[in-house]
This record gives sequence, C-alpha cells and structure tokens, in this order.
Amino acid sequence: MLAGMSVSLGFPAVRSAGVTVPRPSVSALTDQFGRVATDLRVSLTDRCNLRCTYCMPEVGLEWLPQGALLTGDELVRLVSIAVTQLGVEQVRFTGGEPLLRRDLVDIVAGCAALVPRPEIAMTTNGIGLASRAVALAQAGLDRLNVSLDTLDAQTFAAIAHRDLLHRTMEGVAAATAVGIGPIKINAVLLRGVNDTQASQLLAWALENGHELRFIEQMPLDAQHGWDRSTMVTAERIRELLSQQFLLTPDDRPRNGAPAQRWLVDGGPATVGIIGSVTEPFCSDCRRTRLTADGQVRNCLFAHSETDLRTPMRAGASDEELAQLWRNEMWVKAAGHGMGAPDFRQPDRPMSAIGG
Ligand code: SAM
Ligand code: SF4
Repeated sequence: MLAGMSVSLGFPAVRSAGVTVPRPSVSALTDQFGRVATDLRVSLTDRCNLRCTYCMPEVGLEWLPQGALLTGDELVRLVSIAVTQLGVEQVRFTGGEPLLRRDLVDIVAGCAALVPRPEIAMTTNGIGLASRAVALAQAGLDRLNVSLDTLDAQTFAAIAHRDLLHRTMEGVAAATAVGIGPIKINAVLLRGVNDTQASQLLAWALENGHELRFIEQMPLDAQHGWDRSTMVTAERIRELLSQQFLLTPDDRPRNGAPAQRWLVDGGPATVGIIGSVTEPFCSDCRRTRLTADGQVRNCLFAHSETDLRTPMRAGASDEELAQLWRNEMWVKAAGHGMGAPDFRQPDRPMSAIGG
C-alpha cells in the first residue's frame, strides 16, 4: 500500500532523494509520493487562432506536423484506457485551441459514451463556440472554462494580437444560453497591460454568474519571455481585488483544485486564484496529461514524456499502453521546481502540452 496522500499544499516531502522506488502493482496512476492522478488533460491541437503574449509568439511558432496528431479514434481509445483501466474520472480538453478540431463534437461524444462515464470539460478561448455550443452540450460536454483576460477590446487585441474580443463574448453568451455551466472564466494578469482591470473583470463575472479564476503567469511561453520579477503574483492579485472587494478565505476543501477560493464580500460568490508559481499546490496534484501527438506527461514542467502514439500505431494492446502510462506517472517529481536555482523551462510550450 502506498503512503497516504498529503493534504498540505506546497511540495510533498522527498522520501529518498535520487532513489527510484519500484512501482507497486496497482492499476491506478500513482506516484512515489502517494499522489493519485484522476484528472486527465488532453490537448487536441497545438494550433491556435490567438497569439496571447504569455503563451506564444505573434509569428514563427512551428506547429506539430498533421500526421503526428492523434486522430479522433486514437484520442478516444487513449481516454478510454485512462478511464476504464487507470482510474481517471475527469477529462478536460484543451490545447492550443480545442475548438479548432473539426471532430471535437465526435471526440466529446465518444468520451461521453465510456463506462464509467467521465466528467467532460473543456478550456477554450471561446472563438467559434457560438456555432457549436448546442452540439457540444448534446454530445456530453459538462463543464466549460473560457479564457478571458479583459473586457476591453483594445487590451484584448494587445494581449492576443487579434481583435476578437467580440467572438469570445459571443461564445460565452452562447454557452450560457445552452446551459453549459456555470462557466468558469480564466484570466492571466500582465503588469501594466490588464492588471488594473482585475476588479472590473470580477464585477462582470459576478454580475453574470461566472466563476472567475486568476492564473499566475507561468514560464511556459514558447518564446521564453517570462520574467519572475514582473509577473503579477497571487498576493498582488489579492491586493488589487481588495481595493474594491472584501476577500475572505473560503474554507471548503480544495479537493485537488488548483485555485484557492476566496469569498467575495462575504459570499456566497467566490473568486479563485491559481498561484502556481508563488503558492504551489504540487503536493495535492491529481493531473496526468496527454499531448495532441500522443505523449503522456506527468506534469506541465516535466522534462520527460512517454510516447503512446508510436506503440499504439504499432499494435500495442490496451494493457501495454496502460502500463506505459502508469510508468510515466510513477516518476512524477515532487514539485515543479520553479524556485530552484537550476530550474529549466520545459522544451514544449504550454500550447503544445495543453494548458
Ligand atoms: N486556447 C485555450 C484557452 O486559451 O483557454 C486552451 C489552451 S490555453 C494554453 C489554457 C489556459 O492556459 C488558458 O486559460 C490560458 O490563459 C492559460 N495560459 C497560457 N499560457 C499561460 C502561461 N504562460 N501562464 C499561465 N497560464 C497560461
Ligand atoms: Fe491560444 Fe489559449 Fe495560448 Fe491564447 S492561451 S494563444 S488562446 S492556446
């Protein structure tokens, strides 16, 4: 039996530095620190129709070759292995921009037909959602996160390098209308760009019944432009919001959720703050990741990954693929190591891992 999961946040205690402990024979996606991954993030594509400055450069990023991407059937097969053999309970589609996949509705429907049925969620910039919200809801999409950093069209264009705020807003409205909700809104604050708009965004979210979560900017951009000294920290986000709202800690258990929730003006409305860099929650991480080209990753910041696409295309059985997946998760590091002097940003950017 593995050690019990730590409930304190931060990093799990290192049990035996540098020593790899043999993996016990259990079916779940366990690691050496007693964590169990039940939450699968699936990147459907590395491509995107925006160019958010904290994510990718305006020009020059090379996409994965088309033949490297998993087909819809391959994706559903791997999700099926995760759900039926590895204990995954929740699947979130992301990217890149998942709405760019023409077969998105079929992929959602394929995953919704699995037994046991996983909870199905998607993180999107919302562009193109307006025309597909009904089909996605009917296919089985349960929950939605829409990324929206500002309500100001000029600021949106400055961040995303595309003048498309109206398309994201249309997407949010359409998803709300078909009842996929409550919608969560993800926002990244950039100093001197949209940080002073934090309260305005929260007021809008509260008015419209959306749960807003601010995400600290992480060193995962393709152009390696992240700078710790200029990032807007979780502490600063609380300060900014406190200029207009009273924030008090929400004491409900986090249950592996990355966001620390705060009651706004006494509640029940809340705002979430994801302090991945300055207030890490690695000790309670329940995530496993599958990239659009079929690589399993145990962390956004991992430097290793396990290729499932090649063995799958060579005829590997479900059990063989499941075992490769378990092995990759077993060697998950205690934490992302962003505070360490030897921290090195992973080669793959967020857009190619799946955020
Ligand atoms: N295109 C979709 C979207 O924007 O929602 C899905 C992929 S995107 C990579 C997923 C989430 O990662 C978004 O909420 C985005 O704001 C966030 N993100 C991207 N780069 C980030 C970074 N360097 N630090 C923190 N969050 C980031
Ligand atoms: Fe595209 Fe999402 Fe990255 Fe923005 S954050 S460039 S919408 S993948």
